[in-house]
Amino acid sequence: MASESILVINAGSSSIKFTLFDVEAGEVSLHYDGRIQPDTISFDLFLQPSVGIDKEYGGQVEGIGTAPKFKAKDRDNELVYEETWDAGERSSGHQVALEKLMNWLDDHLGDTTLIGVGHRVVHGGTEYAAPTIVNDAVLQQLGDYTVLAPLHQPNCLAGIRAMLAMRPDLPQVACFDTAFHRNHPLVADQFALPYELYEEGVRRYGFHGLSYAYIAHTLPTIAPELADGRVVVAHLGSGASMCAIKGGQSMDSTMGFTALDGLPMGTRCGNLDPGAVLYMLQEKGMDAKQIEDVLYRRSGLLGLSGISNDMRDLEHNPDPRAAQAIDYFIYRITRELGALAAAIGGIDALVFTAGIGENSDMIRARVCRAAAWLGIELDEAANSQRAQRISTASSKVAVYVIPTDEEKMIALDTLRLLRP
Ligand code: AMP
Repeated sequence: MASESILVINAGSSSIKFTLFDVEAGEVSLHYDGRIQPDTISFDLFLQPSVGIDKEYGGQVEGIGTAPKFKAKDRDNELVYEETWDAGERSSGHQVALEKLMNWLDDHLGDTTLIGVGHRVVHGGTEYAAPTIVNDAVLQQLGDYTVLAPLHQPNCLAGIRAMLAMRPDLPQVACFDTAFHRNHPLVADQFALPYELYEEGVRRYGFHGLSYAYIAHTLPTIAPELADGRVVVAHLGSGASMCAIKGGQSMDSTMGFTALDGLPMGTRCGNLDPGAVLYMLQEKGMDAKQIEDVLYRRSGLLGLSGISNDMRDLEHNPDPRAAQAIDYFIYRITRELGALAAAIGGIDALVFTAGIGENSDMIRARVCRAAAWLGIELDEAANSQRAQRISTASSKVAVYVIPTDEEKMIALDTLRLLRP
């Protein structure tokens, strides 16, 4: 019998990441993955026939600012396909990049039938609490949410629009970063602003929902006793947030109306007194674009250190400001950990995930030591060996490191919708 597959597309401002999953008995496993760089129309494709889902992604971005290039590599990183084309096609970035991908896939799918495409969409507004098949009406409504996520939403929708135009009969499924948080309680949804603003959508949406949904889906397979437990997940990557989960449901998140709130990030400020924005506006005479630039691109680890937005650079830099930036990062995580534990009446487990959470034993150790008062007891050896469980057997709170897989979550959501 011919097999089936699902393509996952994660379109960002300067890159499109794609992953092809095989569908087998209601599960999905990684088939191909890679990234497209539409701004430069360059993408690499890594061919990984039926590798396990735990395998690390082989995709990478290459050729920024150079001639358009498509490359396919096998699981051993050997080049199996390469294509370059005229840089004149640059103007229609997403469209051209996706055409190249689809043409290549058509030649390589063989007997496999592509049953649908799952797209990461950053904002589902108040309406979308579950994956949704996109038609013109849905696309239009999602476009209305661009005002809520101006930096991200247009890119997500550009990918869907291009796919709908190219393959009108292929189901395009939107999976939302806000959806996992849509059922959190009203007190976690509101700001103490005039109620009319709440009604028009000024709410605490929370983001990184696909990552949290994946952890909520995976944790009970590792620790079944935590299925109904109180869990705080720290998604610490270039974007960073934390989520309080109870019984598998999001109860609160550090991110609110936009992906700026909460923890300091690579270049985003995190929690801020709104009076600081008024100060920039009224006293410094900055306009909205300049303030946006400060809040999104010049703050966080970069703003604090003046050195880099990358934790790896800071960890090894002797400059005292690098250390101060890390101190601030740890301090805010520790504060939010206490607050989120309070929001769900205690904590049974803490999970670290994403680039920093999965890879920096130093950050994990410092957070756990600072949270000893909560009953966290770190197993230092397990932590430095990057074990899955890094707390001692006697720790009151279990601590795990679980690699996130947003693409797999999108594939599973897409599969559930198309093959209920
Ligand atoms: P993500 O957004 O989840 O891909 O995470 C990217 C971030 O993870 C990078 O900006 C780095 O700051 C961080 N990161 C990746 N590897 C390491 C590492 N070995 N140690 C510390 N930070 C890391």
